[in-house]
Amino acid sequence: MIEWSVMLSARDLWIDEKARRAGFENGAALASAHALKPYRIDQLYRAAAKELAGSLDDVTTLPKELRAALSAEGFALDSVEPVVVQRSNDHQTTKGLFRLHDGNEIEAVLMEHHGERNTVCISSQAGCAYACAFCATGQAGFTRHLTATEIFDQARYFAKQLARQQRKITNIVFMGMGEPFHNYDAVMGAVALLNDPKGFGLGHRHITISTVGLVPQIDRFADEHTQVNLAISLHAPTDATRSSIMPVNRKWSTDELMAAVERYVAKTKRKVFFEYVMLAGVNDSDQHARDLAARMRGPLYHVNIIPYNSTPDALIRGSDDARIWAFAKVLEQAGCAVTVRTPMGRDIAAACGQLRAETQPKAHKVASANA
Ligand code: SAH
Repeated sequence: MIEWSVMLSARDLWIDEKARRAGFENGAALASAHALKPYRIDQLYRAAAKELAGSLDDVTTLPKELRAALSAEGFALDSVEPVVVQRSNDHQTTKGLFRLHDGNEIEAVLMEHHGERNTVCISSQAGCAYACAFCATGQAGFTRHLTATEIFDQARYFAKQLARQQRKITNIVFMGMGEPFHNYDAVMGAVALLNDPKGFGLGHRHITISTVGLVPQIDRFADEHTQVNLAISLHAPTDATRSSIMPVNRKWSTDELMAAVERYVAKTKRKVFFEYVMLAGVNDSDQHARDLAARMRGPLYHVNIIPYNSTPDALIRGSDDARIWAFAKVLEQAGCAVTVRTPMGRDIAAACGQLRAETQPKAHKVASANA
């Protein structure tokens, strides 16, 4: 348990990270260098997180000289800079490739569901250490963790775009690049920034964290007593199949993973989403569906079937639609809660890591060699 006295508010976390980026030790050091009263820090934070100011120049509540001085030191509201932004032909998916201060690139995607929901998929790391066989990011290797504000600023980018049309982000999913539970503290910091009622103000129930299945972190997450949703990338119901596509399964077996999920459900009484990407001839037989159904434990266990977004260099192919629906039917007949995800943004390579694979192939190779 973290004590309240040492727990940072979202505002303090935000100003500390932004101050550090500008070369200060923390927010207090920045405040004292400019003789800023606490309300000035409040104004900065509110402008960035709640009012979604375009940049420091737009924060007109601050004196012009102060804005100029902060800018000159490298203080900025944003830590991610859009490099390429692509929109799908149906205009429902917008994918951004963003550059970080050190030149690393990450991706985030906005999915607009017919004006009902605006879901943003964000990255928690540059690269990923878990090497899932079918995932473009996993194949490229791990580069580094993102900070809480680098994660949060991806949401801020799309929130700014939507605000121009009087619209808002309704949901955030940690399903971009990286393994959120491998970067646990920064991800929880980003959740605090997203949720802060004095800032961005997105309810916990509108946030979903997706994991390859890191058992200790699932237990830790259960103890947070948060309403943030949990999704598990299961992708196979047995050790043989799961280990063949997800190396993490050699560390925590499917039984150990499912036992952790059971502990989570017992503690939180919350629904768990199981992601299952359909790979032709790998995990998509009727027998796989029956084995998967046997692992589900009632209405709080929800299977989300994902049509595969093929990656150009992968040997793996996605299952065809007929196989996907037949698989779903077996699960349904076994009494499982199941949905089939609508593929979005296929024409703009919107699956995890695909866009960066096109623009940063070198960094990829270097990163995977060092991983
Ligand atoms: N590391 C986390 C979150 C990032 S990936 C996790 O593994 O859950 C989010 C989801 O997209 C995961 O279920 C992942 O397996 C899936 N995914 C990765 N590449 C994909 C692709 N090419 N097509 C469809 N789903 C993919």
